[in-house]
Amino acid sequence: KQTVTVIGAGLAGSEAAWQIAQAGYPVRLFEMKPQKFSPAHKSAGFAELICSNSLKAARIDSAAGLLKEEMRRMDSLLVACADKTAVPAGGALAVDRDRFSELVTKAITEHPNIEVMHGEVTEIPAEGVTVIASGPLTSDTLAEQITNLCGGALSFFDAAAPIVTRESLDMEHCFTASRYDKGDDDYINCPMNKEEYDAFYEALITAERAPIHDFDVMNPKVYEGCMPIEVMAQRGHDTIRFGPLKPVGLRDPRTGHRPWAVVQLRTENAEKTLFNLVGFQTNLKFPEQKRVFGMIPGLKNAEYMRYGVMHRNTFLDSPKLLNADFSMRTRPELFFAGQMTGVEGYMESASSGLLAGRNAVRRLEGKAPLILPITTMMGSLAEHAAHSPSKDFQPMGANFGILPVIEPHIRDKKERYAALSARALEDLAETLKNA
Ligand code: FAD
Repeated sequence: KQTVTVIGAGLAGSEAAWQIAQAGYPVRLFEMKPQKFSPAHKSAGFAELICSNSLKAARIDSAAGLLKEEMRRMDSLLVACADKTAVPAGGALAVDRDRFSELVTKAITEHPNIEVMHGEVTEIPAEGVTVIASGPLTSDTLAEQITNLCGGALSFFDAAAPIVTRESLDMEHCFTASRYDKGDDDYINCPMNKEEYDAFYEALITAERAPIHDFDVMNPKVYEGCMPIEVMAQRGHDTIRFGPLKPVGLRDPRTGHRPWAVVQLRTENAEKTLFNLVGFQTNLKFPEQKRVFGMIPGLKNAEYMRYGVMHRNTFLDSPKLLNADFSMRTRPELFFAGQMTGVEGYMESASSGLLAGRNAVRRLEGKAPLILPITTMMGSLAEHAAHSPSKDFQPMGANFGILPVIEPHIRDKKERYAALSARALEDLAETLKNA
């Protein structure tokens, strides 16, 4: 049987290697630790959790809980190890990170089909089915190789803007329009008058920021390119009013006038249920984002599906490059998995590893790819990576906003989420039965 190469024994690579090995195929798993560590990795073990030890909510009717349940039902190694090493954490599934990593490392190294190769991979294998899962902190030489292969489409960013749900916006205080009426009312605009802007500005420049580690700002050029809104604001009282909050070309239909400042929201998904705050990359602490951005009238009750975050990242412009089975369109034997495909989060990364691993096997066996329905969390995340319509593609974590809505609308949020979860698990079972 053909051997599959997997690069990186992080969250995604460990899961991918396991899935391939369990299907009966030999795997060569390359990991650069302990010879070489990224600036954030510290331990020699596999599936290292570099920051929080929480794998987010456990309840099946939460987005993160649903993702884990889907993975559980697909025999995920990482979820099994997490369940075994869980520590008390309220409603979350948090783990003892050392024991978690130990269990994953043991399962992988003892698997008869997996051969672990220690050392940095500096070249993408020229042939054979390969899964690249070297993560957001991929070593520089390999990152360069991937950039060359992808035609320069490898992105680096230091900050991301928050994403809010459409239904939580106060549309009494917003209007849809494109600047100078160009485009199809593509943006939701949140206007502010002078008093509102002044109060917002004061709060923004004095809000509490999250700590930044040295490695996060290694690349000052990129840092300048996606400057956090609070840093830009500090340059002057009106700097952001001439930048992301500029009101030119927009008229508030309620007043017939140009507002003093405007925050624009741009859609994240084809269903237009999620919107990002344009130009609002930020490093404010999460509760501060809610408080300060909540001073923008249209965002008073906004529900955040992702807060703005700031750290170094390496990810592909996946919608231009990848199929929904995580293989490369121009080189179908080459799969990508993990954070670098444009999913965001530990379990999201592992879930893409699971699907990339399964699909690598199907490629070897000449079977059609396993594409999960977009009503499932895993399927929807894969769809985001392969087909996001956003011009400015950004990684996405599990959230209910990316699933197709259920009609008729269920008003009660708890009931709605429970229904979305039930539908996802039913659809997953049906797909796996026929796979
Ligand atoms: P990783 O888990 O990083 O695995 C990649 C592996 O590849 C590593 O073991 C690395 O050593 C290895 N490798 C890299 N280059 C090579 C090479 N050339 N040859 C061989 N091996 C190589 N998500 C959360 O859910 N919660 C958090 O708290 C969180 N905090 C984060 C903090 C930071 C600073 C960053 C950058 C990301 C964070 N994330 C967090 C996002 C993401 O979930 C994690 O980065 C996650 O580990 C990604 O999984 P992965 O498998 O894609 O990459």
